[in-house]
Amino acid sequence: MLIDSHAHLEMQDFKKDLEAVIQRAKESGVEYIFTVGTEKKDWKRALEIANSHPSIYAILGVHPHNVKEIDDRDYSMLKGLCQNEKVKAYGEIGLDFFRNLSPRDIQLKRFREQIGLAKELVLPIVIHDREAHQETIEILKTEKAEECGGIIHCFSGDYEMAKVCIDMGFYISIPGSITFKNADSFREIVRRIPLESLLVETDAPFLTPEPFRGKRNEPSYVRYTAQKVAEIKKVSFEKVAEVTTENALRVYGLKL
Ligand SMILES: [Zn+2]
Ligand SMILES: [Zn+2]
Repeated sequence: MLIDSHAHLEMQDFKKDLEAVIQRAKESGVEYIFTVGTEKKDWKRALEIANSHPSIYAILGVHPHNVKEIDDRDYSMLKGLCQNEKVKAYGEIGLDFFRNLSPRDIQLKRFREQIGLAKELVLPIVIHDREAHQETIEILKTEKAEECGGIIHCFSGDYEMAKVCIDMGFYISIPGSITFKNADSFREIVRRIPLESLLVETDAPFLTPEPFRGKRNEPSYVRYTAQKVAEIKKVSFEKVAEVTTENALRVYGLKL
C-alpha cells in the first residue's frame, strides 16, 4: 500500500480522464491520494473530488503564486470549506522566489497569515518552498509552526534544513525528481534523512518521475519514487511503502 501525499487532481490536466487516473492509482496499490486545491477556483473542485471518492482527501489553501489575488472574503470562504471533514491539511502555503508570480512582500505576509489560519483551524500545514529556504525556516520559527506541524512538500533544501524541519515536527515529502539522472546530490540528502520522517508524493500533473519524465504525472507513478527511495536507502520497496504510509496517515490525522 502506498499514499500519494500530494497531487492536484482538480487541475485542468485531469479533466478528461480523472476516473481512469484514480482507477490506475488503485491498481498500482495507491490506497489514498491527497489532492491540493491551491487557489480559489480550485477549492470547491478539490473538495468535490474528495467527497465523491472514499480514497481521496483534500488539502486547501492559497499557493504563493496566487496570494496576490486574495482578500478577506476569500479567507472566510476558505475557512468555511476547511470545516469539511475530508479536508486533512491546510496548504500549500509558503514562498516561491524562483517564479515570483506574487510580489515577495505579499508572499511573506500571506505565508505568516496562513500559518495562523491553519492553527485556528487545527490543521497541519503543507509547505511549498522554492529557492526561499532561509526565509521559509525563519517564518516557520517565528510563527511557531511547530504548534501545527505538517509537511515540507517537494523538498529541495539541504540535509541541515531537513533536520531543522524534522525537529519542529515536520515530515519531508519526496517528489519524482529523485529519479532524475542529475539528482545525485538530492539522493545523497534523502539517504541521510530517516525513513521515519519521509513521505512520497507525485505533485501530479508536475514532476513526472523516470521512466515517464516529460509526460503528464499521475498518482500511480508514486511507486517509482518509492522504489528509488528504497534503492537509495538499501531497504525493500515494501518497507518504504509501509513506513511512508504510516507517516502520511499520522500527519494527516487518519487512523493507522
Ligand atoms: Zn508546491
Ligand atoms: Zn503542489
